[in-house]
Amino acid sequence: MIDFQHVSKIFKGGKVAVDDINLSFEKGEFICFIGTSGSGKTTSMRMINRMTDPTKGKILINGKDIQKINPVELRRKIGYVIQNIGLMPHMTIRENIVLVPKLLKTPVEERNKIAEKMIDLVELPREMLDRYPNELSGGQQQRIGVVRALAANQDIILMDEPFGALDPITRDSLQDLVKDLQERLGKTIIFVTHDMDEALKLANRIAIMSEGKVIQFDTPDNILRNPVNEFVEELIGEDRLIQAKPNITTVGEVMLNNAITITPEKSLSEAIKLMREKRVDTLLVVDGSGVLKGFVDVETIDRRKKTATIISDIINPKVFYVKKSSLLRDSLQRILKRGLKYVP
Ligand code: ADP
Ligand code: MG
Repeated sequence: MIDFQHVSKIFKGGKVAVDDINLSFEKGEFICFIGTSGSGKTTSMRMINRMTDPTKGKILINGKDIQKINPVELRRKIGYVIQNIGLMPHMTIRENIVLVPKLLKTPVEERNKIAEKMIDLVELPREMLDRYPNELSGGQQQRIGVVRALAANQDIILMDEPFGALDPITRDSLQDLVKDLQERLGKTIIFVTHDMDEALKLANRIAIMSEGKVIQFDTPDNILRNPVNEFVEELIGEDRLIQAKPNITTVGEVMLNNAITITPEKSLSEAIKLMREKRVDTLLVVDGSGVLKGFVDVETIDRRKKTATIISDIINPKVFYVKKSSLLRDSLQRILKRGLKYVP
């Protein structure tokens, strides 16, 4: 859907901000650009909607050179969210939400429908539409900020460190919200961050940048498992190496190799041995009534044995061994959070 072909950006004075990058994003992907400050993330993103143009190379959207796309059409296709997603204080929530649709000359009745749909999406009451931002809590305002980015129904949304200055708890819940909405609405999101945890949580593919170059472009799982060099390893940090995330999308597809009941502690080494033998990657810990209590992957156990204590937190756990490619860590995390039952 989006192709960077040998794209470079050299600013006046000779600063090479982006150096010959080649990337291809599919529709519906959540892409994160990550890298240290000044590595060219923002510039790469800004070239997608022509806030700045490449010095060399070209960018295609659906096979078409963006230089040849009419700017109004490009704006209808691509949304842009800058840092901190603040609301305009002198505008009502409704006016805030439909800011971009209004700029795009969407008729007023349709704008009202959009505002209602957006406020429904974040599960806030419709009466709030006619309030001003300062009449909402900070958290509610932030949620409105997120759906505002979706109000113009653009296919592609660019987000430049939108949660950069927020406290960790607000940030975490907004990450969940944006990821959930992105999946539900099938949007393509290009997201800039310098926070590896954020990238690992949100992205289905991560482009790691350093000095204007993309040094690794891959799934979070592959980046964690096979960092291309020491720079990437450092960026990941040892603590995060446990975050490996397999590929398939629903828990329903989890394939069970084995289901055995083990007693705590005693059989941990046995479990590890079995996992290695059967080449399984993750074990789910489910209590007697089927509620998921935790999951551990084999690398976690290998690298940091202490995380395996999760197994001893419950009485009579059942442990399922799951093949690497058939488990989605996020889905499990969601199940875990809500205390839902895991029924194999
Ligand atoms: P990041 O978003 O990764 O922090 P940027 O893309 O903003 O990095 O910037 C990459 C490099 O290009 C930096 O060295 C920055 O100083 C430089 N740069 C960015 N914008 C301009 C500009 N308008 N003029 C000159 N240099 C710029
Ligand atoms: Mg930047």
